[in-house]
Amino acid sequence: MGFPGAGGATGGDHRADRPGAGRYRQAGGAPDEAIVSRSIDNRIGAYVVAEALRLLAQDGPKHAAVFAVATTREEIAWTGGGARTSAVGIEPNVALVVDVTHATDWPGAEKKRAGEHKLGGGPVLSRGSAVSPVVFEMLAECAEREKIPYSVQAAPHDTGTDADAIYNALRGIPTGLVSVPNRYMHSPNEMVAREDLERAARLLAVFARRLDPKVSFIPV
Ligand SMILES: [Zn+2]
Repeated sequence: MGFPGAGGATGGDHRADRPGAGRYRQAGGAPDEAIVSRSIDNRIGAYVVAEALRLLAQDGPKHAAVFAVATTREEIAWTGGGARTSAVGIEPNVALVVDVTHATDWPGAEKKRAGEHKLGGGPVLSRGSAVSPVVFEMLAECAEREKIPYSVQAAPHDTGTDADAIYNALRGIPTGLVSVPNRYMHSPNEMVAREDLERAARLLAVFARRLDPKVSFIPV
């Protein structure tokens, strides 16, 4: 899950003792508790989903059965990796994909193109052709009701995540995409904020509890 190998977790009072943490701060301001590790992309997604399941075990959804899947091959074959076979096997009414996305809170980041997504800014909700507009709206509503901060990312073509393999599986599966802002993606020291992991997990749980038979995923 990324945690056992996390070598550079920074936080609290220890920050001043760690020159590395100081540099991260200069790069845009790190939240109090960040996790640094290789392969956060996307092992951290499995953590978020497991944490959502833990929350749902305490307070379960009344109308939905929830399946959690950890998939392989997204990075090399997101149009045909484990996500597609899982989607076909489960045949869900709705799917949420959890991944990381590039944080853009460092100097030189292309905010104009990628949007403004910062560590500690909450989950990033994608909208675009792979994402159901109904699922997006429900996620945004759930976040607002729960006072979970979030930002929105445009994904006009593909998303580069498992969503691309799920939304067009079978006869089409309404799919949402929840991403955790990740700084230094694809480097040995990827960095995410713990509070964003907690928020993303809580958002998934709230979404699952929000489902009932009256919810229609047909866009109006
Ligand atoms: Zn990646």
